[in-house]
Amino acid sequence: MSDIFLYNSLTKKKEKFEPINTLRVGMYTCGFTVYDYAHIGSCRKYVMDDLLKRVLVYNGYSVTHVQNVTDVGHLVSDANEGEDKMEKGARKYGKDPYEIARFFENYFYESMDKLNIIRPDIICRATEHITEQIQLIQKLIDKGFAYDTPEAVYFEADKFDKYGELFGQRLTDKKTARDNVIKGKYQKSPYDFVLWVKRIGIHKDHIMHWDSPWGDGFPGWHIECSAMSMKYLGEQFDIHTGGEDHLSVHHPNEIAQSEAATGKSPFVKYWVHHAFLMVNGQKMSKSLGNLFTIDDVVNKGFEPLALRYLYLTAHYRDPLNFTWGSLSSAQNALSNLRSQVFAAYSQNQRTVLSFEKDAKREDFARRFRDAINDDLAIPRALAVLWTVLKSNIPSEDKYDLTCEFDQVLGLGLSEIRAGIREEIPDEILELLKQRDKLRKSGNFSEADKIRQEIEIKGYIVNDAKEGSLVRKK
Ligand code: AMP
Ligand code: ZN
Repeated sequence: MSDIFLYNSLTKKKEKFEPINTLRVGMYTCGFTVYDYAHIGSCRKYVMDDLLKRVLVYNGYSVTHVQNVTDVGHLVSDANEGEDKMEKGARKYGKDPYEIARFFENYFYESMDKLNIIRPDIICRATEHITEQIQLIQKLIDKGFAYDTPEAVYFEADKFDKYGELFGQRLTDKKTARDNVIKGKYQKSPYDFVLWVKRIGIHKDHIMHWDSPWGDGFPGWHIECSAMSMKYLGEQFDIHTGGEDHLSVHHPNEIAQSEAATGKSPFVKYWVHHAFLMVNGQKMSKSLGNLFTIDDVVNKGFEPLALRYLYLTAHYRDPLNFTWGSLSSAQNALSNLRSQVFAAYSQNQRTVLSFEKDAKREDFARRFRDAINDDLAIPRALAVLWTVLKSNIPSEDKYDLTCEFDQVLGLGLSEIRAGIREEIPDEILELLKQRDKLRKSGNFSEADKIRQEIEIKGYIVNDAKEGSLVRKK
């Protein structure tokens, strides 16, 4: 197995990736707060997570990917201030918080599907893990790391020695410290953060609420990620990702409460943080109102996969400035790429490779792997793909390499066979997929029934060595 190097934000170094268990990787990615439409800024972060997972799988690891859905407790400020974003969203849309939570969760995962993001193995909602969060808070109180007050249960940051130095930050750099204001009347220090919010004051009418040993209320935002990641991946696991905005508050808080509760360090071995999608030099965000959704992309005549291509052109730790012009270039590049892959596939001229061409093909494969394993240098990997398509190796080898690389890039290039992606309706492709599955499992009689169904609908199926092809009659 080749070595993978990842930049670890915890140590601020590029490190060789060595999972806790040899071949199984536990990966947690902070999920979406479902109070409004997912925008293409946050989509960038989830495509980057998807690339990381695909790189691990490409290298032979089996990955358990867990992602939360924040559907309660994320206050308007990432620190302790303001109302719950869910309540705010519910008011904006004149609906119940549960209703908007499910609606925007669906919208989020539909956007993810359109971007060809592989769904996490476990998707867990904060509202469905209240017991786990209460148990964790209780553990922190029992161990003397948290205190109960009439307004909230707080984590006592001073009790956790490392708190001020996580991710190479100084305590005085933290936003809470800069403001130097104690937000809660009973909060001991500005760095203390909320674990359980009581249903009083501005939260007195909070619609989502539960009973707890500290009274009626709801969990703070940070505790959900510790409770759910540890439930599904264990007290220590390999990779945790998030947007770079989580470096200052959310992730230090996660580490503090998890390590304080378990007494084990490190909570997570590798922390990966993604840079933002920008618009005119500013972060694309709901608060600045400079955002676009996947629907906006489609309504302007672009494919979601063109957006994925655009994301692939920048390294995950570099900001990417979004313009419609850059999306248009990405769309052109993707269409061009498809026609080259299509040409490579249709030329179908397998020959015995000369020693020189064989060595060339091996070299391309090695260069691609070197790029992706070097802290996910995806733009470099994409350049290798273009070089392959322009090279003089036989067309079939170009096509094979493209399909192999696309396991990581996720641009749907392997579906281009005979123009499948462009000409055949989704309904037929779905039937074709089902038939392929049946054939692989040896269920040929059922597979034949599906072939007939496809033919009745006006298409012909051909079985080639790469899989099944379908064409209009
Ligand atoms: P939220 O739902 O606000 O917690 O955001 C979900 C994820 O998207 C977080 O990990 C954010 O860091 C990330 N995110 C939000 N805006 C952007 C952006 N403009 N570019 C990249 N990632 C973003
Ligand atoms: Zn989180």
